[in-house]
Amino acid sequence: MLEGGNITFKCPGTFVVKAGQVPFMSGAAATMTHGARLIPLPVSSREPDPVRAIRSTFAFDQLTEVANRSTPVEFVLMLAPIFGFDIPAQTYIKLQDALKQGKIRNPEHIVMSGGTYPADYDNEDRIIRVHAGAPDLAATNVEGARELLAVLLHEFGHHIDNVLRHDLADRNPDGTSTLGPDGPLEEGARYAYSIAVFDLETSSQTEYAQYESPDYTGPLKVNYAQARLAIQQMQGADAQRRDGRHHTRETFGAGRGEHHEDRPRASFGHESIEDVLQDDFPRQEDRKAIYFGNWLRDFSQIVDPKIVRPPGLPKDLGRYISREALTKVIDVLAGGEFYDLRTANPSGYTVTADKLGVYRPTEHIDNPKNINPHPPDPQSVDADFEPWVTADSPKLAVNPATSMKNYIADSRDSMRDELNRAAAAGDTSEGKRLLGSALHVLEDFFAHSNFVELSLRKVGFERVLPWTSPADCRHQYPLVTGMFGSTDVIASIAGPIAQALFPVEGWTFKASQPGQRSDSEKILEILLSEHSDPRYLTSFKQFLSLRDQWTEIPGHQYAELIGWVASAPMRAVLNGYNLVYQSLLHLVGNSVDDAQTHYGDPNTNGSTDPSHSQLAKDHDVHPLHVLAAKLAKYAVKQAGAAMKARWDGDTASDPGGVATAFFVHPYDSSWQDAIVLNWSRSNGANIERGESATILEHLHEAHAQETMEQVRRAGRYGGQGWEYIQRNYETLFGEENQVR
Ligand SMILES: [Zn+2]
Ligand SMILES: [Zn+2]
Repeated sequence: MLEGGNITFKCPGTFVVKAGQVPFMSGAAATMTHGARLIPLPVSSREPDPVRAIRSTFAFDQLTEVANRSTPVEFVLMLAPIFGFDIPAQTYIKLQDALKQGKIRNPEHIVMSGGTYPADYDNEDRIIRVHAGAPDLAATNVEGARELLAVLLHEFGHHIDNVLRHDLADRNPDGTSTLGPDGPLEEGARYAYSIAVFDLETSSQTEYAQYESPDYTGPLKVNYAQARLAIQQMQGADAQRRDGRHHTRETFGAGRGEHHEDRPRASFGHESIEDVLQDDFPRQEDRKAIYFGNWLRDFSQIVDPKIVRPPGLPKDLGRYISREALTKVIDVLAGGEFYDLRTANPSGYTVTADKLGVYRPTEHIDNPKNINPHPPDPQSVDADFEPWVTADSPKLAVNPATSMKNYIADSRDSMRDELNRAAAAGDTSEGKRLLGSALHVLEDFFAHSNFVELSLRKVGFERVLPWTSPADCRHQYPLVTGMFGSTDVIASIAGPIAQALFPVEGWTFKASQPGQRSDSEKILEILLSEHSDPRYLTSFKQFLSLRDQWTEIPGHQYAELIGWVASAPMRAVLNGYNLVYQSLLHLVGNSVDDAQTHYGDPNTNGSTDPSHSQLAKDHDVHPLHVLAAKLAKYAVKQAGAAMKARWDGDTASDPGGVATAFFVHPYDSSWQDAIVLNWSRSNGANIERGESATILEHLHEAHAQETMEQVRRAGRYGGQGWEYIQRNYETLFGEENQVR
C-alpha cells in the first residue's frame, strides 16, 4: 500500500492521499474499534462544507494544562514515549515552555463535504479536516460521539508531532530539521490513548467540540452514564487474590535464592539460609515471622539518600520519592510476601517507617567510605541516614589487633543491640522481627566480606584472591567488606517493584469485587501521589471508584469494560504507568554507581577498599556462593538456638554474645576450618575461579547486566526509555550522569 510516500487506497475508483496528509488510522493500542474507513467520493467533493463548522479546543486545552501543571522532567517523561525517543529532551521542554507562554496555536478544524473519513491532518497547511459524516454521526449517536473525540485527539497528536519536528527541533546548518519527518511510532494513536485527563467524578459527560450543521447546532459530548451500559460480561475466571506474585525473588539479598527451586543445594537467599532454624523453630510461620525482619533490611536499601525527596522540596516524580511513599510501596510488597501472617496479625506485619528504616551501611556491614571529598550531607535529607564517611575517617582504618576494618565493629555492636532487644521482646512477632533483622547482618558478614576468601587461604588455598592489599595488622590481609554499589539494590529491590507494577500478564481491568486493588494498582496509587500534578492521582482514583461501581452491577461480578469509554480512564492510567516506570528507571540508574571501574583491583593496588560487587557472594553466579551460604547457615543456627533458649527461659543464654563471636578475622577462629576443607574437596574448579580477578569480574558484570535487563524489560517502553534518560540526563536533571 505504501508507494513513494503516497498512500493509495484501492477502492471502487482510486484516489490518492497527499504525502503530507495524515489520515486517521486506528493505532496499535488495542480497544479502539474503528479503522481507517474511507468513503470514496469524487475528488470534486473534497472541499469545505459550506453549511457545517466545527470548533474544538479540547485536545489543545488538555495539553496546555499538562504543560502548566507538570515539572519539566515529568512533561518530558510523559511525552517521549508518545512522540518518540528520537526527539531530545530539550525539544520537549521547548514545547512545554511554548505552551505555557501561549505560543502554540490550536490547529484549525474544517468540515469537508468529502475526502478522508473520518478526518486527516495536513502537515503543510496544519489543518484538521473532518469529514462531514463524522460530526453528523457524533451529533446523533453515542458511538459516533466517542469516535469523533478519539479522532480529534488523534489528529491533534499529529499536529504536535509536526510542531516538535518542524518548529521546535534543532536545525542543521542548512536550516532543515535535525529530526526525521515523522515519529517511528503511530504518535496520533498513542496520543489519543495517553494524554487526555478526564474528570470522571464531577462531570458525567465531557463536552469536546461545538458543531454547526443544518440538523444540529450545539456541543458535542461523550456521556459516561451511557457508558456504564456498555459493560459486557467477560469471563468468570477467578482472579486469584494471591496470584503470580511469588516469582520475584532474588539473591542472598531477599528470598530463597534465584535458582533455589531448581538447585536447592547450590542457590541460597536470606530466606532459605534461615531454613537451618528448623530445629528450634519447627513451625514454618515462625520462621517466616523471623524472615520478615530480614526482608525489611533488604528492602530498606531502596530508601537511599539519592532517591528520597529532601524536606521542603516540591514533588517531582522522576527525580525523588518521599520516604513515606517508598515505605508504603514496600508495605504493598510485604502484603504479598507475608500474606498469611499479615492476615492473622495486620498491625504486626504492616511496614512502617520505623520498622523499615532507611539504607544504613552499618546494617549491611558495607564499607561506608564515600569517594566524593565533599559529599552532600544525607542527614539533611532525613535524620535517620548515617552521615557520610570521608576517606580520612578513622572508621576506615584497619585495627592492628583485630585485623579488621574499624567500621565492622559498629555493625557488630548494632547487631548485638538488636539481639538484646529481641531477647527482651520475647517470642512475639516483634521479637522475631528483631531476630531476623539481626540475622540479616550476620548473614551479610559472610556474603559481603572476604571472610570466605581468607578462610580458604588459611587452609592452604593461597592463590584465592583476598580482595585487599596487605595492611599494618596482625594477620597481614585484613578482613574487609565492599563499598556499596547499588547493583545489589537493582537485583533485590527494583526488580520486585517493577514486576509488581508491571505484571507479566499485562495490566487488566478486572476486579472480582468492588474495592479490590491489585498490588500494581496500590503501588501506582502511591507513586502517583508523588507527582506534582495531583490530577493523575485524582483521575486514577476516579477510575478505580468507577470500576467499583461497575463491578457492583448484578450479574457482572467479573466485568471488563469495553469500547472507547473504557479507554477514557485508561488513558490517564496507562499514562501514569509509563510515567512511573520511566521514573523508576531513572531512580534505579541514579542509585547505581559503578564502583568497580572507579576503584581498580585492590588485590594489587595497595587499597583495602574493594567494591561491594567485587566481594558480594549473594548470587549463585559467584563461585564461592555455596561456601558463603554454608558458613552463614552455621552461624545463623547457633544464634537462633541461643535466642530460642533465651525465650524459653534460659537466662544464661546470650544470643548477642553468640552472634558477635563470629565477627572476627578467620585466622582468629577455627569453627569454619572443617566446613571449608570439606567443601574444598569437591570444589576444585570453583576455587580456581576464585583465583582470577578477570573471571570474577566478568561473572559479576554478566549478572548485573542480566538483572538490569530484567528491570528494563518490565516496562512497555522500558529499554528505550532507559536509554533516553541516559542520553538526556543532563538536560533533565541538570547534572552529570553517573551511570554508564
Ligand atoms: Zn548483597
Ligand atoms: Zn544486606
